[in-house]
This record gives sequence, C-alpha cells and structure tokens, in this order.
Amino acid sequence: MADLVVQRPQGLYCPPGDFYIDPWRPVDRAVITHAHADHARAGHGHYLAAAPGEGVLRARLGPITLQTLAYGQTLTHHGVTVSLHPAGHVLGSAQVRLAHGGQVWVASGDYKVAPDRTCAPFEPVRCDVFITESTFGLPIYRWQPDAAVFAEVNAWWLGNAAAGRASVLLCYSFGKAQRLLSGLDASIGPLVVHGAVEPLNRAYREAGVVLPPTVAADQLTDPAMLARALVLCPPGAAAGPWLRRFGDYSDAFASGWMQLRGARRRGGYDRGFVLSDHADWPGLMGAIDATGAQRVIVTHGSVPVMVRHLGERGLQAGSFDTEYGDEALEAPAGAPPTAEPAAP
Ligand SMILES: [Zn+2]
Ligand SMILES: [Zn+2]
Repeated sequence: MADLVVQRPQGLYCPPGDFYIDPWRPVDRAVITHAHADHARAGHGHYLAAAPGEGVLRARLGPITLQTLAYGQTLTHHGVTVSLHPAGHVLGSAQVRLAHGGQVWVASGDYKVAPDRTCAPFEPVRCDVFITESTFGLPIYRWQPDAAVFAEVNAWWLGNAAAGRASVLLCYSFGKAQRLLSGLDASIGPLVVHGAVEPLNRAYREAGVVLPPTVAADQLTDPAMLARALVLCPPGAAAGPWLRRFGDYSDAFASGWMQLRGARRRGGYDRGFVLSDHADWPGLMGAIDATGAQRVIVTHGSVPVMVRHLGERGLQAGSFDTEYGDEALEAPAGAPPTAEPAAP
C-alpha cells in the first residue's frame, strides 16, 4: 500500500490528497498543525487549521486564505478524509488524521500530554502509522506537574518582590507565556508583558482562555509597583534596552532545556524553570503506545535515539528530515539546537 505521507523538498506531502502538512516552502495547499513560526509559514495559497487556532494564526500571519475545522470534524479532499485532533501543545494545536484506502495515518505536529489550562488536552488517536515529533526524546527528560513548577515560579517572584526587585521571566511569546500567566499568582504584584506577547494574549482571551490582567511596560510608572512586577519577555528582547526600566531585576528562563544544567549556566540566568510545551520521554512513549501504530516515523529532535528505541520495542521505525525546530528558537544561549545524548 502506498504511503499516505511522504517527504518532499517543500515539506511533508500527502500524494493522494495533493496537500502538505506544515510545509516549510510555499505550496498551494497546507494543513497547519499549529501557529509556531516554523510550522506555520507565510506564503501558502490555502491554509487549513483547527478552529481554536484561528486567532493566533491570523495574529502571526496576517491576511491568509484560511479554512478551519472544529476538532474531530471531517473533510474529504480527493478521497482523503482529513480531521484535526487536539495536540495539547498550544492554543489550536492539532494532530492531523488522514484516512484513505483503508489506512489511517496521524501526523502529530508538536504535542504534549500533560494538561494545560490554555489549550485542549492531547487526544490519543488510533492509527496505522504515527508521525511523531521528538524534541525532548531522551530518557533524561521527565517533567514535573505544572502545579509544582508554578509554585516554584511564584515563590521566586514573591522573594524578589519582598526584596524590592522586579522579576524578569524570559519565555517564548506564544504558548509558553500564556501557560505561565495561567499559573502565576497575580496577587503578588503587577504582570507586565512585552509588546511581542500582547497580541498573542489578546488572541487567547478572544478564544475564551482566561488569563490574569496584564499591563504594558509603559503603563506602569510607580517605582514601588515596578519593583513588585513580574515581566514576561521573549528571549530576543533580553539583550536590548527594553528591560533597563526595571532596574536591578532578577531574571529566569522557562524552558524544557532548563533541565540541562549547562544551558542554565551558560545563559547566565539567576534561575531556570523546567517548563516545556513538548512531551517528555514518558509522554512520548505513552502517546506512541496509545496510537496502537505498528509503524512510527520520527521528526525533529532526538531522531536517532527514538528510532533505535522504537525499533528495539518491535515497531517499524523510520524518520523524516524536516525544517522544524521551534524549541531551538526558544532555547536560551548555550542549549543544543537539537538534543544530543547527554549525561543524566
Ligand atoms: Zn510548536
Ligand atoms: Zn515543532
């Protein structure tokens, strides 16, 4: 039986359907798993995405020709039945299910299996072939529950506020920032967001996600309030003049890469909080098992380690080369662009 998804120079391609999934070069028809920049690129003729992601997709890409599907709703294109299922990664993120000629394939996009108040929970989808990401596909990656991480962040913030210094929390502006906001204790002090975060917050709120009140930096002029503030800022703004107004602040980075002590040290941050929008190792393995797939194709991340491990477990395992890598964009200075085997 012919494969339902193959690798082409433009991206992952469905031959019978004549469309691409998250293509990295401009194509006519693109199914988009989520609005992170490396998966949702500009320049395609037609976009298909999950309805809850419409706002964030438009906030990032501007005017595009976009058709949306509710999660679970089906659409048939050239005989291929397409549906989108929650991936639990960021608002609107979807796994793409394709059914054709008696075969079912699912392409995961990016996913995490732990619950997240800012997006629909990951849904296991049975399939014959599962295309999985592998960003944190090494056994050393094991995440704590969100509540434990949020408690650490709030304690750090409270300590800084008591000492009269602002807390600057560096994080990716789409997904991570909103997830952090959903877990921060707004009674500690004002929440300030960088201009890159605000349009995404607006899209989340318009989609019905409840976030605490936030202000722009120039709305906060009282020095006593500045000293109690928690500031959410993308890593790219950390080196610029924007942060100077906060004086002698404490900084921290929130990322899965913070599990690597070297990344934290080389970045020079006061604190590192281990919080990722991707599945950890047990999460990846559990998600793959839950599909029931006998064949698994691994993309972006720890590809060789995952392929070898899945092969040893008796699955038919292969890989696709892709041009995704949002955790690399998100990564602090010193973190590996893709995870290499490291000492535990
Ligand atoms: Zn992503
Ligand atoms: Zn990705």
